[in-house]
Order: sequence, then structure tokens, then C-alpha cells
Amino acid sequence: MGREAAKTVGAKAAQTSNFDAIVIGAGVAGLYQLYKLRELGLRVRAFEAGSNVGGTWYWNRYPGARFDSESWTYGYSFSKELLDEWDWQEHFAPQPETERYLNFVADKFDLRRDLQLNSRVASARFNDKSRSWEIALEDGRRYSGRFLVTAIGILSAPTMPNITGIDTFKGISCHTHAWPKEGVDFTGKRVGIIGTGATAVQTIQEIAKTVGQLTVFQRTPNWCAPLHNGKISKEEMRDIRSRYDEIFALCRTSPGCYIHAPDPRKTLEVSPEDREAFWEKLYDSPGFGVWMGQFSDTLTDREANKLASEFIAKKIRQRVKNPAVAEKLIPKNHGLGTRRVPLETGYYEVYNQPNVELVDINETPIERVTATGIETGERAYEFDIIIYATGFDAITGAFDRIDITGTDGLRLKDVWRDGPQTYLGVFIEGFPNLLMAMGPHAGLGNYTRTAEYSVEWVTGVIRFAIERGLTRIEATADGVGEWTDHVLALGEGQLMNEIGSWMTGVNRNVEGKQRPRIMRYSGGHPAYRKHCDAIAAEGYRTLALA
Ligand code: NAP
Repeated sequence: MGREAAKTVGAKAAQTSNFDAIVIGAGVAGLYQLYKLRELGLRVRAFEAGSNVGGTWYWNRYPGARFDSESWTYGYSFSKELLDEWDWQEHFAPQPETERYLNFVADKFDLRRDLQLNSRVASARFNDKSRSWEIALEDGRRYSGRFLVTAIGILSAPTMPNITGIDTFKGISCHTHAWPKEGVDFTGKRVGIIGTGATAVQTIQEIAKTVGQLTVFQRTPNWCAPLHNGKISKEEMRDIRSRYDEIFALCRTSPGCYIHAPDPRKTLEVSPEDREAFWEKLYDSPGFGVWMGQFSDTLTDREANKLASEFIAKKIRQRVKNPAVAEKLIPKNHGLGTRRVPLETGYYEVYNQPNVELVDINETPIERVTATGIETGERAYEFDIIIYATGFDAITGAFDRIDITGTDGLRLKDVWRDGPQTYLGVFIEGFPNLLMAMGPHAGLGNYTRTAEYSVEWVTGVIRFAIERGLTRIEATADGVGEWTDHVLALGEGQLMNEIGSWMTGVNRNVEGKQRPRIMRYSGGHPAYRKHCDAIAAEGYRTLALA
């Protein structure tokens, strides 16, 4: 199939603003989605809000931003040529390297000719008559396309804290997601940072090297563990390249598509000495092993989780000299791995510097931001720079920021008011021809690995429709009900789903997002793929096709 079939779909699309398919986003998923749909011979346009490609890796250029997944597991696997041509420089690549990589991909596959930058999609409305989506950009330009694929990311809607006076600050202030391209010089500056998630941890450990004075405002500490990054030599890269098939095959076997998978043993089956040795090894190894490679019951059994947490707490106490500060840095309301584990390089040692102060805002809440700094109930802090590392309205937030209307005026925001309801994390009932690459309730994990699968599955359904002259694909009420129930049932008993974090859709700065919800498929990516593959193999009979 190719151009001929595509012509049928786009037969009435005489104007250049009508496409066979529209993709929103030109990040990791969007770039590949554009590539795959173009491969089908479709007339596709991808709209990207940024002034260049890269998504997460375009926006998040804050100091110290880098992968916490091994670079060589994060690249695309679909092109042998690409794998041959690209050399990773570090095991956990910094943001500039990843941004270069995604630009290299865009150029190599000539994706830019179908890409429209500086184009933020404001609304999308399904036209039942033409069976197509009509989208409007923020600047008012309009386009339409039979299929609409969202590749808008899971952490792309940044949120500022609700603190009085933020706009009155006269110094430099910025959310980490919207970091200025020209960078910020921290040398000798008085800096305040709000937040202690993965982003803040990377920022803090980097800027602590040059700041004059740093004040960290912490609401909830996280369990952080060493990244153990290193440069990749030419020889090492040659070896990695020779093992790409093996590496990607290994990622396919693990629940999160990482090279790290849980140890099949249960915590209490192992002697205390052997447990200690096992945890030491994880703590000394690079990457997410300390989270993903734990004993198999760590994220389901409270006692197991408590023991693993105590091991990390001991490490924090050893690394932070002031015992009172160490205690503040040890999470008390959640166990290891139940929120995303930030990986760090010297993060805890930053708190041993005389020019660094940790403020627990549970004890001394922030009252306001002023022209010159931040005031708590206890003190006024003067700053030259304030950094907001306050996170994202995750998973559904990027959808909420587009006014999406399906059949009969149905608004997505209303449909998802009590949490996402999807079929396979790809379709939504009442929103025909809208397909989500990496939607809520899909199997998420190592982003590129899971995005490649998602994009390929989405492309498969579109190909199926086009080959048969079908112009309307939609989830059924039964399909959505069953999938949503299945995802919710799988999430039961997972300690991760009991705690507020972006992974459970909690953002205390956003109205209606205060309680944890099950936002992700927690049965592991291999099971997710098995399910989706079976549906494709059976000819998508569970979808309403017309
Ligand atoms: P986050 O984990 O949601 O952290 C946001 C931080 O801001 C939290 O410490 C939060 O405190 C705090 N905060 C929010 N509103 C606040 C308020 N009003 N007052 C005081 N504190 C407030 O966001 P993130 O650090 O940007 O990370 C999000 C995710 O992005 C990560 O978990 C990770 O998946 C991804 N990421 C990946 C990498 C990588 O691969 N290397 C790097 C960075 C980020 P509470 O916890 O109390 O809400």
C-alpha cells in the first residue's frame, strides 16, 4: 500500500490545509509518528509548539538536565543506519546531546518538510460529516485531517506553584521547563529553588558548584540514589553497537523496557546479610537498578518496601553530615520507589556545603514571593534568581490544555473529569479517528522504547483502515469499560498507586488533581504488548470500524 490508498483518504483534500493525518508534537513520539505515517504514503503534518524539534529535550534545558536511562537504550531502534551513525558520548546523556540527537534524526529522515514549528494547537474538533478533525492553532490558523494523532508527551504541561507575589519578583525567575536558551549565569548568585523532584535534584547538584548562596525549599523529600554516569569511549561504543539487538531484546523483557528488571526473589526469602550485599550492589551500579532491579515484592509488600527504604535512609545519613538535615532529606510519607526515584551525582553532599540551606516548608511555609525574594513565616530570603522546579500537570494535563471536542459536542475534559478512560491507552469513546501515542492507561516506561511500540501500533490501525477504505475508527463503550476496569484492577495493591505524585496524576497546584488515581497500565510492558498485538492480529474487531 502507499500513495494509491492514501489518495482515497485524501481525495477531497484539495487544499494544502487538509491532511490525511495530523500529528501533534515533534518530540520523541511525534517525530517517529510522522516518519511512520509518511511511510504509509499519507499526507501528514506535524504541529509543534516549540521553535525546534525535541519536545522534552527541547524545553527542559535547565542546568544539569540529563537522562536517567542509559542513552544506548533510549535511542530509536527502527533504523540500523541511525544506530550505526550515532555515537552516544555519555552513558546518561546530558540534554544538549539528546537535543542534538533528535535534530539529527529530524534531518536524517527529512522530517522537517512536514513539520510546522511555533504552532501550538489550541483546539481540535471532530467533524462527523467529513469524518475528520479540524484543528486550530493559537494564532488562529486552521487545518484538518482524517486522523489525529496526539504525541504530546506525559510531562509537557508545566505548573507553577500557587504562591502570592510570583509576578512581583524583580530578579531572574524561571520554571525549569521553560529554561532560557541563552542559559543563566549562577556564579556568585543568591539562588532559591522550589521543589525537590528529579528535575530539582539535577539542577541543585549542578548549580551548587558555582552559586554564591543556595536555598532549597522542600515540601516532600524523595528517595534519591547515585546515577554513576561515565563517558563512553570509542571502544565501548563499538561494543554497544555490536550488542544493540541484544540490548533492545533485553529491554523488551522487562516491565518498564529498561535493562533493569526485578530480582525474582522475595525480600524475606533472603538472609539479612545477602539482602544487604544485594542492596549495596544496586546502590553501586549505574542507572535505575536501585529502583527497577529490587526484589520482586518491593513495590507491593509494605514490610519489604520498609526494609529497602531503611537501606537508602542509612546511606543518606552517612552522606549528609548534619543529622537534622539528613532527617529532613529522608522521606517519611512514602517508601522507596513508590514515587519516581531521582538519580543523582553528589546531591546529598551539596547539603554539606556551608553556602547551602535546606528549608522544610512544612515547618516554615512560604508566605509570598516579593520583589527581592521569598518570605516564609520565619524569615525573608533575598535572591537574585528563583527557580521553580515545581513539575507538571502530568499524563492528562497536556490534553486538558487543548480544547478537544468529539461527537455531539462531547468534551474530553468532561469525559476524563474523574480520571482517564481509554481503550488500550490509544482510543477514547466518542472521539473517532483520534489516536493517542503514549496516552493515559497505556504501557509506559523507558520513553523511546515504549513510544516506538505505541507509534507502531497506532500506525498499524491506520494502515488497516486505509487499506480497507474505512474512514471512521472508534472505541466502543464496552471496550473502554473493560480496558479501564482491567487497568484499575491491575493497579490495585501497587504501593505506587497509593501515593500522590505525577505518576498518580496528583498535582496540588491544579484544581481537581489532589487525589492519587491510576493513570498508567501497571501490568508491565510485555503484557501490554501481548494484549495489543492480539487485538491487531484479530483485525481490530473490538473497535467500531466504518
Ligand atoms: P516533580 O517530580 O513533580 O517535582 C515537583 C517538585 O515541586 C516536588 O518536589 C513538589 O513537591 C514541588 N512543588 C510543587 N508545587 C509546589 C508548591 N506549591 N510549593 C512547594 N513545592 C512544590 O517534577 P519534576 O522534578 O519536574 O520531575 C517530573 C518527572 O520528570 C520526573 O519524575 C521524571 O520522570 C521526569 N524527569 C526525568 C529526568 C530524566 O530522565 N533524567 C529528569 C528530570 C525529570 P511535592 O512532592 O510535595 O508535591
